[in-house]
Amino acid sequence: MAIERERLDADVLIVGAGPAGLACALRLAQLFEKHTAEGRSPALSTENVYILEKGREIGAHQLSGGIMDPRALRELLPDFASAPPFDTPVGEDGAFFLTSQNSFRLPITPPPLENHGNYVVSLSRVAKWMGGLVEKAGANIFTQFSGASLIFEGGGIAGVITEDKGVDREGKPKDNFTRGYELRAKVTVLAEGTRGSLTKEAVSTLRLDGINPQIYGIGIKELWEVPEGRIAPGFVAHTLGWPLDSSMYGGGWIYGLKANRVSLGMVISLEYHDPLFDPHQAFQNYKTHPFVRKILDGGELVLYGAKSLPYGGWYSAPRPFMAGGLIIGDSGSLLNSQRLKGIHTSIKSGMIAAETIYGALCAGDASEKRLSEYSRSLEASWIRKELWEVRNFHQGFHHGLIPGLVNAGAQFVTHGRGFVDPLRSLPGHLEYRKLDRPLEMVDQSHRFKGDGKLTFDRLTDVYHSGTRHEEDQPCHLVVLDPSICIDRCVREFGNPCQYFCPAAVYEMALENGAPRLKINASNCVHCKTCDIADPYQIINWIPPEGGGGPNYEGM
Ligand code: SF4
Repeated sequence: MAIERERLDADVLIVGAGPAGLACALRLAQLFEKHTAEGRSPALSTENVYILEKGREIGAHQLSGGIMDPRALRELLPDFASAPPFDTPVGEDGAFFLTSQNSFRLPITPPPLENHGNYVVSLSRVAKWMGGLVEKAGANIFTQFSGASLIFEGGGIAGVITEDKGVDREGKPKDNFTRGYELRAKVTVLAEGTRGSLTKEAVSTLRLDGINPQIYGIGIKELWEVPEGRIAPGFVAHTLGWPLDSSMYGGGWIYGLKANRVSLGMVISLEYHDPLFDPHQAFQNYKTHPFVRKILDGGELVLYGAKSLPYGGWYSAPRPFMAGGLIIGDSGSLLNSQRLKGIHTSIKSGMIAAETIYGALCAGDASEKRLSEYSRSLEASWIRKELWEVRNFHQGFHHGLIPGLVNAGAQFVTHGRGFVDPLRSLPGHLEYRKLDRPLEMVDQSHRFKGDGKLTFDRLTDVYHSGTRHEEDQPCHLVVLDPSICIDRCVREFGNPCQYFCPAAVYEMALENGAPRLKINASNCVHCKTCDIADPYQIINWIPPEGGGGPNYEGM
């Protein structure tokens, strides 16, 4: 029997108030204003632009390293530089190679890591600022609402069903139960960021996959306050090498911010072979290196966060248009993994999407053919030029650092083509090597605890992420077949969910003598790593009740 729900109709529904979604809304507002001033028809109003944001407020779930190339924002909002989030232009920057005890500064900073003209930002602050402009322009932002499922219609999408609120852990309605809304729109824009749950649904249902599967990395970040004089605001360092071995793709960063704050973290590709590798612990070890320690010693951890990022690039991009829908930003695989930057491409893709949508609304036509204009405009834009030059970059590191550098050199002189084009890749979860011998299932006594000053265990870090969820709700981490965890995964891979999750959500425990997967869902920082890196692909991350999750304000 069909469930009755309240229905709202919009011209445009944007899922996700990150840089891509907010740029889309702002560009729509600009186009609508001009359209109205010129007295054109049909009447178009930002009141009919809806934006869903699952965080408790705009910016709460925005996490980035974060250095921003201002190219797109300058096009969208030419006066952006006087706004508060852009108070730290990049000053000195350098690239370093780390061994376990030493650091070597590369004689020249590789061009992709040069950041002159860029800004060290808190992406959360940027989103909050952009969200304020969107609200001022009259669009409707619904915070604490997530899209639970898509409405598929006419070979495309027609909107979103938001999550039911006030449901207990058994799935029964509580006193505050509210049925989710049916939000319908002429155009629905999927701007969910990395590994969006609705984007995943759209890509698999409508078969929108790119040439390569998406390849992801995990980024783990801490924000510190350090003694005066340790690091200049705008100082930018990128590191390669220790503690990652040469078979792994990744590195670290240290960025100086105003008020003696430091952003530091690591990104690690989720294609490593050892299923017991712990990215959180690797990052904690990173901080013990003399190069990093000398900056942090005597300082204090302020905030923590983790997020996956789409490394695959142009060849992993899904087809970004369908009848009634577009995919933009990180959801559309528009991050430049060579430069480690995606805010600028996200913003630009949101702008291009808005221009396509404006044309569709004027023509009264949101068909697949009409919306394919977005894809053509992307192809004609600087996004394509930038990403095309690095289309094989990440795949080139599949066999480790040295072959990767050789491939990168060949790609540099051939404008991205390299030795083989396209270089194919496998999903990262197929890269795990099986264990030689089964482990003792519940023995976690060896897990990293940290010293409580420079290094921390995962729970201490989660505390600093501001993560909060309604406890009495259905688990948003759906394990499709838990018997696999107990019967196969423990023997074959040692339950890697216990290691790759940077928030200590998964735990194998004994219950009445029998092993069971315990899920501490309220710790989840929404990084989506489990949805990506589970070796059997049986973990499905679905949005919890809106408003749950981390609070990255200031990150
Ligand atoms: Fe990330 Fe999954 Fe852990 Fe949540 S449960 S923090 S999405 S790995």
